Amino acid sequence: MIEKYRDFPREITVLKAILRRFTLNPQLQSELESKLSRKLAGYKGERELDYHLSQFDHTRFYILHDLRIPHNKTHFQIDSLLISDTFMLIIDSKNYAGTLDFYPEFNYLLQTFNGIEKVYPDPILQTRTQASQLKSFLIKHHFSPPPIEFLVSISNSQAIIRNPGNNQDVRIRVCKTPAVAYKVQSFSDKYHNEILSVKDIRKITKLLLKSHEPYIPDIPSMNLPMDQVQTGVQCPECQQIGMKKIYGSWICGKCGHLSKDAQIDALRDFFIIFGPAITSRQFTDFLHISSIHQSKRLLSALDLDSTGCKKGRIYTPGKNFPLWD
Ligand SMILES: [Zn+2]
Repeated sequence: MIEKYRDFPREITVLKAILRRFTLNPQLQSELESKLSRKLAGYKGERELDYHLSQFDHTRFYILHDLRIPHNKTHFQIDSLLISDTFMLIIDSKNYAGTLDFYPEFNYLLQTFNGIEKVYPDPILQTRTQASQLKSFLIKHHFSPPPIEFLVSISNSQAIIRNPGNNQDVRIRVCKTPAVAYKVQSFSDKYHNEILSVKDIRKITKLLLKSHEPYIPDIPSMNLPMDQVQTGVQCPECQQIGMKKIYGSWICGKCGHLSKDAQIDALRDFFIIFGPAITSRQFTDFLHISSIHQSKRLLSALDLDSTGCKKGRIYTPGKNFPLWD
């Protein structure tokens, strides 16, 4: 059973907001664009893993997708964790393209793609490290951890996996995503002793869910030109920024599209860039609204909490405001 579904990565939402709202120097622009495309490809690979995991009978497993757990002044991240009464399995998803030569004896992976060679840290070592961090986290919280296995899932269907050193770890611990279910079974066949009771598993699951801290990039540390942010409401149809509020709708001056709720995305961009608090004056300026009364009407119709009164009133996202959806 699935105890935690994968959330849409907040980092992608933040990167998109930055690329939408700032004119950046070409170097930073291309850096953030390639980071965004890497993150999108990574998320696609993780979804692929979720799909293949959902295809096998997983009734004996408690499954938690996408965990980021604080431990020893840092965090460790797990793409998918399967917990049974006899063992745990960590699965790390990689979406690398091209030919992948694994050299675990030297702790690296060599990717050859379109004639270009690139070296990455060994994903088996990374996943092994996650397993030892999880073990130490469980011990710290007074659990006796069961054996923790780990697996690297390569989601890119065109990728060629090679094992030049004929290394046993690569054979056992690396596979294409569609083969994950069979690997789960072969790990499962190794363990017969019940180490965790259902009660233990429930407690561990609860602890992991409670400890999970999604990663959000820290905008102030990114040296963005905060005084040059592009304000206005973006057209959901043609992406032009600068829709105008006419009667009950927003109208796009470029393509003529009408929207009733384009203010939500604009407000979300504001919260992401400047932090989760806004005054009606800031809202008026950021969304290019002609009157503060109209702003107050729009704000009061949204799911926001507010503190203070009159001009000092500050609005923050309410429980159901779609900040990260
Ligand atoms: Zn438009």
